[in-house]
Amino acid sequence: MSSEVLSIESEEDGDRLILRFIGEIDETSDFSVVGDIKKKKVIIDLARIVSLNSLGIRNWVFWIRSIPDSIRVEFTNSPRVVVDQLNVLQGFKPMDAVVTSFELPYFCDACGFESALMLHRGKDYSEGTADVREQITYKSSIPCTKCGEDMEIDVLEKKYFHFLKYRS
Ligand SMILES: [Zn+2]
Repeated sequence: MSSEVLSIESEEDGDRLILRFIGEIDETSDFSVVGDIKKKKVIIDLARIVSLNSLGIRNWVFWIRSIPDSIRVEFTNSPRVVVDQLNVLQGFKPMDAVVTSFELPYFCDACGFESALMLHRGKDYSEGTADVREQITYKSSIPCTKCGEDMEIDVLEKKYFHFLKYRS
């Protein structure tokens, strides 16, 4: 995969600001281009993040922390590279931020094809709370669109869904 400098597209939609992150999050990533957020809600679309390195993550966390608590933050279309961070780094998203969708990767042993299904909050999963355990429903296999064999989940589910657990 060739190097792709991060770009951030922003779009205003009523009281929402939509930010689309595209490319690699690394030491050159400049989040200051976002500026002060004047909307009540910010939707961060992560679909096109291809990779994150440790210095990039550090910059990301500084930026995320700079968003005032009064602004509701949502993470949408989280790819595997982001879910991995959500699982290992509690500060990757603000405490109250909601993950509204994330991808579940599948792999075909027969032909090597990789794919993913997007899981949606409210429909496919809900986070754990102090009172209720997290809920998640998903297919353990899906048909391969290349060869027709069964594709299996390409992650360790227990680890991958860890970020949905309630953290006090
Ligand atoms: Zn296949």
